[in-house]
Amino acid sequence: MTKMRFIKFFILKKFKNTLNKIIKIMENSEFFNMARKDNSLRQDYLDTILNLCPISVSELVYDPDFEKAKRSIEDVNNKLSEYGNYKSSTQGVPSCYFLVLTPPYLFARNEQSKVFVFGSAFQKFGIEELFTNALTNHEGMHATDQMNGIKLEEGLEINSEGIFLLSAKTMRQVMEIRAYNNELKMARQKRINNQMYLDYTGLCRDLEKDIIKSIEPKNNFERKVINFSLLYGHE
Ligand SMILES: [Zn+2]
Repeated sequence: MTKMRFIKFFILKKFKNTLNKIIKIMENSEFFNMARKDNSLRQDYLDTILNLCPISVSELVYDPDFEKAKRSIEDVNNKLSEYGNYKSSTQGVPSCYFLVLTPPYLFARNEQSKVFVFGSAFQKFGIEELFTNALTNHEGMHATDQMNGIKLEEGLEINSEGIFLLSAKTMRQVMEIRAYNNELKMARQKRINNQMYLDYTGLCRDLEKDIIKSIEPKNNFERKVINFSLLYGHE
């Protein structure tokens, strides 16, 4: 490549990157951009995108300082005192951005879940389609699994009774692997081409798989569930 062509190539590449960024910014709805800047609009914004979520999500709750989620976690932990091996576990599948509570006594009982949305979610996700993809296809997956139970394969299913044969840690990992896998799958289907986001989501799923690999199953059902969950990403 001559020096001139190299310079042109370099400029073109830079231009393309900038253009992509501009397109991304333009694709954000005005409402999303406003909600990012103004906390007081965030609940209204979330109300308008509830219809993107699966039916398993009853409500999107803006919770800037974790106060509402904390109260709900306390409620769940109080009720959990009756369930021996789940007693001391943290309930729900917390990330720094969103939270769906998944109390085992409500698992696979056709109940909808709220999704708590923390202030950090609006800071981290500057691109609306990434924000809504994580919300609807990751958190939404947690809510759907919690509502319907989890069919892993023919004859292997985690239902309202089976959940108590699993440790809380195994259950958490299974749900995370499924949620990251779904988030990634749906991002690809929607042709989201933000490579960093795709790589990051895949990496998160694989890290959750590494954690479940290290769990010592305490019965045959748990062993099967763990082995099956390691297959995600190879389908
Ligand atoms: Zn999660």
